[in-house]
Amino acid sequence: MADDCIFCKIIAGDLPGEIVDSDERTLAFMDINPATPGHSLVVPRAHSADLMEIADEDLEATNLAARRLAARMDETLEPDGFNILNCCRPAAWQTVFHFHVHVIPRYDDDPLKLPWIPRGAELEQIASVAQRIRGES
Ligand code: AMP
Ligand code: ZN
Repeated sequence: MADDCIFCKIIAGDLPGEIVDSDERTLAFMDINPATPGHSLVVPRAHSADLMEIADEDLEATNLAARRLAARMDETLEPDGFNILNCCRPAAWQTVFHFHVHVIPRYDDDPLKLPWIPRGAELEQIASVAQRIRGES
């Protein structure tokens, strides 16, 4: 448990949380600012700040728990789809630094929008970035 981590406090029962799923490695609870009805967060019980820090076993367990929760919502809330989202670091909208996966049920008439505009790019530009990712330049 990390000092001053609100998700560690929810896991420990020191802060309230509306729990919807749990197993040995993970806990899932409702987000207090739901993007859509059902928006939940799945967290590893062991504290890790973000995607770069989380242990492989916790990452696997958290993603499997996210799918399990989505499957449960599919039966109970009957949404039209899902977004599964992780934000890593403030530049990518992370605000709570205990790794979490958002499970966001989507409804055909919900107000959410794709946060980027598909604009295309020169194929050479895409290939050049791919080279950098592969460590070739
Ligand atoms: P992120 O911006 O990806 O780090 O997401 C953090 C999420 O945690 C936000 O969607 C918040 O609404 C949510 N959140 C913050 N505090 C609480 C809390 N005490 N209980 C439930 N959700 C919370
Ligand atoms: Zn924590």
